[in-house]
Amino acid sequence: MTGLAALWRYVLSLNFIDLLLVALDISVVAFVIYKFMMLIKGTRAVQLIKGLVVLVVASVIAARLHLATINWLLSQLRLVIVVALPVVFQPELRRALEQLGRGKFFARPLTVLGAEDMEKLINELVRAMQVLAKNRTGALVVVERETGLNDYIETGIRVDGVVSAELLINIFVPLTPFHDGAAIIRGDRVVAAGCFLPLSESPYLSKQLGTRHRAALGISEISDAVVLIVSEETGVISVAEGGKLTRFLEEKNLKELLQSLMLPQDNHNTTFFWLWRS
Ligand code: ATP
Ligand code: MG
Repeated sequence: MTGLAALWRYVLSLNFIDLLLVALDISVVAFVIYKFMMLIKGTRAVQLIKGLVVLVVASVIAARLHLATINWLLSQLRLVIVVALPVVFQPELRRALEQLGRGKFFARPLTVLGAEDMEKLINELVRAMQVLAKNRTGALVVVERETGLNDYIETGIRVDGVVSAELLINIFVPLTPFHDGAAIIRGDRVVAAGCFLPLSESPYLSKQLGTRHRAALGISEISDAVVLIVSEETGVISVAEGGKLTRFLEEKNLKELLQSLMLPQDNHNTTFFWLWRS
């Protein structure tokens, strides 16, 4: 309370120009923080920041409770973090400066689908995979979820079309500029195609599988995306999620797997509830 009173006395002691400058100062800082949040929204940096917040909260709690050892450990960690931060955030920092230079400072908000639209999306995906597999057309489709994939979307060609089986099949027609690389879906739209994904370094991937499958696994390791793959060599449909690859999926189990991964969880609870009631 004394702090507030002191602040109030300070504000009253200021003349008009000073007041204006303080207001300007605060607005600029607020604006920069807001723009920074918009910039990292939809990138991997969000997870990193969350991790940092956890560390900061932990160190505040440790300091308050006088937990000497944890305190010491966290204070050592602080130095490491200061050094590591620019290294870890290097892609984001570069992107931020690039966007600043291009005057393109706004990121689009992420879209979240309801259960009904998600069901529609799954149907289109399953239909597309069936046709692509039958034609032995290689395909790589990434469905974005919580982790933003802007970094990877920027490596491809913008599409921004509503998802349909036809659109997906068209994207992967061999010898077109789109077919090479991954298509990325956000919400109910294919936002980009021909995207370059990070390759998994997992030593456990079957030797029969090449870079397409490695790329699918790679993006699933560093994000919560659901990735669908059609093998050009065998026509086998696979799904990668959370660093796990499920191969040899037929129409029915592909659909079930996508439903279990992508539909809101409470939807399953209600199904369970109905089963239980009947
Ligand atoms: P398939 O069973 O279809 O042959 P595969 O796992 O054996 O798949 P490759 O034969 O090496 O993989 O497939 C190469 C194709 O995979 C490339 O033409 C390209 O479209 C895609 N691809 C390879 N690397 C990446 C990457 N890093 N990001 C996105 N797509 C990639
Ligand atoms: Mg191959």
